[in-house]
Amino acid sequence: MLPKEIFRAYDIRGVVDTHLTADVVYQLGQAIGSEALDAKQTSICVARDGRLSGPELSEALINGLLTTGIDVIDIGRVPTAVLYFATHMTKTQSGVVLTGSHNPSEYNGLKMVIAGKTLAQDKIQTLYQRILAKDLHQGQGCLTQEDITSKYLERITSDVHLPKKLKIVIDSGNGIAGEIAPQLFRLLGCDVIELYCEIDGNFPNHHPDPSDPKNCVDLQNKVIEEKADFGLAFDGDADRLGVISNTGEIIWPDRQMILFSQAVLKDDPQSTIVYDVKCTKHLGDAIQQAGGKPIMAKTGHSLIKAKMLETNAALAGEMSGHIFFKHRWYGFDDGIYAAARFCEIIAGQNQTVTELFETIPDSINTPEIKIHIGDEKKFLLMQQLCEKAEFPGAELIRIDGLRVEYPDGWGLVRASNTTPCLVMRFEAESEAALGRIQEAMRVQLKLLDPSLELSDF
Ligand SMILES: [Zn+2]
Repeated sequence: MLPKEIFRAYDIRGVVDTHLTADVVYQLGQAIGSEALDAKQTSICVARDGRLSGPELSEALINGLLTTGIDVIDIGRVPTAVLYFATHMTKTQSGVVLTGSHNPSEYNGLKMVIAGKTLAQDKIQTLYQRILAKDLHQGQGCLTQEDITSKYLERITSDVHLPKKLKIVIDSGNGIAGEIAPQLFRLLGCDVIELYCEIDGNFPNHHPDPSDPKNCVDLQNKVIEEKADFGLAFDGDADRLGVISNTGEIIWPDRQMILFSQAVLKDDPQSTIVYDVKCTKHLGDAIQQAGGKPIMAKTGHSLIKAKMLETNAALAGEMSGHIFFKHRWYGFDDGIYAAARFCEIIAGQNQTVTELFETIPDSINTPEIKIHIGDEKKFLLMQQLCEKAEFPGAELIRIDGLRVEYPDGWGLVRASNTTPCLVMRFEAESEAALGRIQEAMRVQLKLLDPSLELSDF
């Protein structure tokens, strides 16, 4: 039995032993190996995160891959970004990592790169079709092990230099960053205080997802208690970054991106910077003011990567915390490398993180608001909204869902690609403007579906 629902927009994901069994993962290995061979690849890297099911599923994946005749380089238990790094460092441009990212401990999944391209959408469906059609290569690949972590650490420590010592707290949420992140930041000369850095697939302390404020509370308290310069948080597979200021405030990724953009543009003027539709308007403005070219794009890490390639962008970032440096790096999302660049910026000036962010324009904004409506309904409703909705005085941006921009603020509604939800976000110069924009959105959605529950905003 091959459950279709595990083949999602940007990755494969399911509950271990229910949907994602060792047998299913073995078949996925056969399909991925065949796909890579068809793309003229002769070898592929395999990694896994710190989940309890990792060793068993990794063995099944490797065995499935080997039956196609492709050679496998096992790089062991490492962050997703180290797997991406391995596809640049070894003789292969292909890799697959077993990771459940920020999901609860019963989940696991696969993120895949073949011939330098992240698999997404129809490319992931192709794997499903391949298994059904038994369109699988036969052969006998050979398995080797390689240590990529030391090369990864060397590459970053030769790239990033901190002109002064920083005191930082690292919260890995018991995810895979727990070993490598404290090691890296000590090598960079930081005084590191560890919080939940033991890798533990049960995630006993909090969910490894810094995009949810309730997962940041312990880190906020620790930063204040230790009088640290700031706090760094990573999601379960460390491809996303969270930052806490010295006074305990969450610095959301779109605000981090303003800082990253200014730093990149200082060194590489006029470069293109990509960000997703959920980001603050101040980010686009800041990129323009610094001489760069801002490009708003669809949400989704593989879509952002594709847009970066298309536009030759130097940097990209998503509100979710995926930050992609092409400038001095390889253009993949890497929470740990982004954190190193954050340290470099802070150590290179004399203000505290809070003082520095006070110099950057801000507005009143909401976090992401999710409205649960079901998978089928979400796309239909978005289509109707894009066709019929009226927002007088606003510019309508239809890059991904609908972003309604007024002179004093904006609202976004889009269909989530990964959950059965509509996702919304609002930002405005005043509470009054925020309320007005939210009400306009509520009215238009209610016209299309009076049963919608919109009390969350
Ligand atoms: Zn992740």
